[in-house]
Amino acid sequence: MCQQHQNQGHDGAPAASPQSDTNTRPRYNDSFPWHLGAFDAHCHPTDTMSSIASLATLNARALAIMATRSQDQHLVAQVAAEHGVSDSDSPLNHGDDSILDGPASKRTCRVVPAFGWHPWFSYQLYDDTASNHSSPNSNPDNATSTTEDAFRIAHYKAVLSPTPKDPSFLSSLPPPTPLSSFIASTRKHLTSFPHALIGEIGLDKGFRLPQQWLPDDASSRDEGLTPGGREGRLLSPYRVQMQHQQAVLQAQLRLAGETGRAVSVHGVQAHGVLYDTIAACWKGHEKKILSRREKKQIAPGAEESSSSDDDDNEDENGNEKEPKQKNKTARGKPFPPRICLHSYSGSADTLKQWFHPAVPSQIFVSFSTAVNLGTDSGRAKLEGVVRAVPDDRILVESDLHMAGEEAEAMLEDMYRLVCEIKGWDLEPGVRTIGKNFQDFIYG
Ligand SMILES: [Zn+2]
Repeated sequence: MCQQHQNQGHDGAPAASPQSDTNTRPRYNDSFPWHLGAFDAHCHPTDTMSSIASLATLNARALAIMATRSQDQHLVAQVAAEHGVSDSDSPLNHGDDSILDGPASKRTCRVVPAFGWHPWFSYQLYDDTASNHSSPNSNPDNATSTTEDAFRIAHYKAVLSPTPKDPSFLSSLPPPTPLSSFIASTRKHLTSFPHALIGEIGLDKGFRLPQQWLPDDASSRDEGLTPGGREGRLLSPYRVQMQHQQAVLQAQLRLAGETGRAVSVHGVQAHGVLYDTIAACWKGHEKKILSRREKKQIAPGAEESSSSDDDDNEDENGNEKEPKQKNKTARGKPFPPRICLHSYSGSADTLKQWFHPAVPSQIFVSFSTAVNLGTDSGRAKLEGVVRAVPDDRILVESDLHMAGEEAEAMLEDMYRLVCEIKGWDLEPGVRTIGKNFQDFIYG
């Protein structure tokens, strides 16, 4: 869910792009090695619930499915309850049931659920979690309907820019949800689904709210699409203030750190402020970078650099901590252990700061046909950006709003393109990206 101005399904419309059209899609001479395990690192099939039935026949081994707004959190939970990865799917148990290695006879496409609140919908939350409220200082919970309405309007006037004055637009906006109650319900979802991620979260400077539904449009909308998306509506001039988007993002980053979950992050026209916002949460926890002299003093084979708080084997009372289990993600930190920059649209140069050795989160970068090949500028920079991502941190996704053949074709296209740019043969390339996906999900 990344680009707003293209016909790529993020607005709820069926996805279509020149690359995705089955008639114009390049024909390949060789068959794609789906049997090695191919994964979609970011998609939105719950926007088209009828497409969920196709999970039974998909070639992909697993999809990471994102929630974005009030209307899809329970749908992601519902799909995960039936199709979610389980402990036996985990590569931690490297057995026949691993989602990477499992025997073909046992496989159907699994989902990795992700619960999060997208920046496009951030205005629908009011920040009751901090002292610098971006909303008016009153709590609508005990309010009468008049004060409730006044609160609602005051909230939207505070978080939208320019300040909306049109009463019909303002009256179309839903009562805002307290950020704290969204975080509390997300925490419950994370408890129910131990492998769930947090996503889709992020920042977007380009986004503008759609216009309100006109009475005629509302009655003709496609009932098969999950409500809340744009669905072809014209855009209003209103944007969500960056400070408010940051507050919503920060609350979810804190939850990810506390619960040790990976996050899938959207960044559009906000690459600098996105880095700064995320980096602020690991301030004081950067990895120590050793000087050459210090490196020489370390015995051969020892870690060259490590997080300062990971080095500490004792708790504050001097008791020895439980030894860390391999592959288990540390909890209780203020920053997420793993971060995927999904459909990354920044420059290769901007990536450097994310891969600085002091960064304590593991950074992954994911690419989609829908977004990264959806514009001329995206196509032009893709090759340089793919080259700039370390081989063990690259992922592939569809970012589409339905599961099925179309999404798989687009996934395959990007798998092939990444392998070509990286100079990988298809089979080892698919294995590498599959291993990266498992590292991202499970740590
Ligand atoms: Zn998305």
